Amino acid sequence: MLELVWRSHAPVGAYEILEALRKYGAAAAPPTVYRALDFLMEQGLVHRIESRNAFAGCPQPEQHHVAQYLLCEGCGDAVEIEVGGLARRIANRAAEIGFIVAAQTVEARGLCRRCQQTAPA
Ligand SMILES: [Zn+2]
Ligand SMILES: [Zn+2]
Repeated sequence: MLELVWRSHAPVGAYEILEALRKYGAAAAPPTVYRALDFLMEQGLVHRIESRNAFAGCPQPEQHHVAQYLLCEGCGDAVEIEVGGLARRIANRAAEIGFIVAAQTVEARGLCRRCQQTAPA
C-alpha cells in the first residue's frame, strides 16, 4: 500500500500519503500510516528526511545503510547519496564521547544543476 512512497524517489510527506490513500478509498488512520512507514524504514526501503518531515524511497534497499541527502531549495528535489564510511565515522566519534547514536540524517541544502541554470545570476 505504501508503494507510492518507495516508488517515488521524490520525498513525500506523511500527510500527502494519507491524502493519496484516501483517494484510493482506503480509510487509513495516521497511526496506521506511521506504523507502515516505520516498518518500511526498518526494512531500509524508505528513508526519512527530517527537515521536511517527508519520506523518500531508497534506490538501493538491498543494502542497509544510512543515507545522506542533497536537498534542492529550488525545485524541492531530494537526491540520495551515500558517502562511504561517513555514518560509521559519525557513530565512532560519538562513541568516543560516550554518545550512542540511535539515528542519523545528514542533509545538505542547496541548488541542483537544473535550478542553478534557471536561477537569476
Ligand atoms: Zn538509501
Ligand atoms: Zn532544483
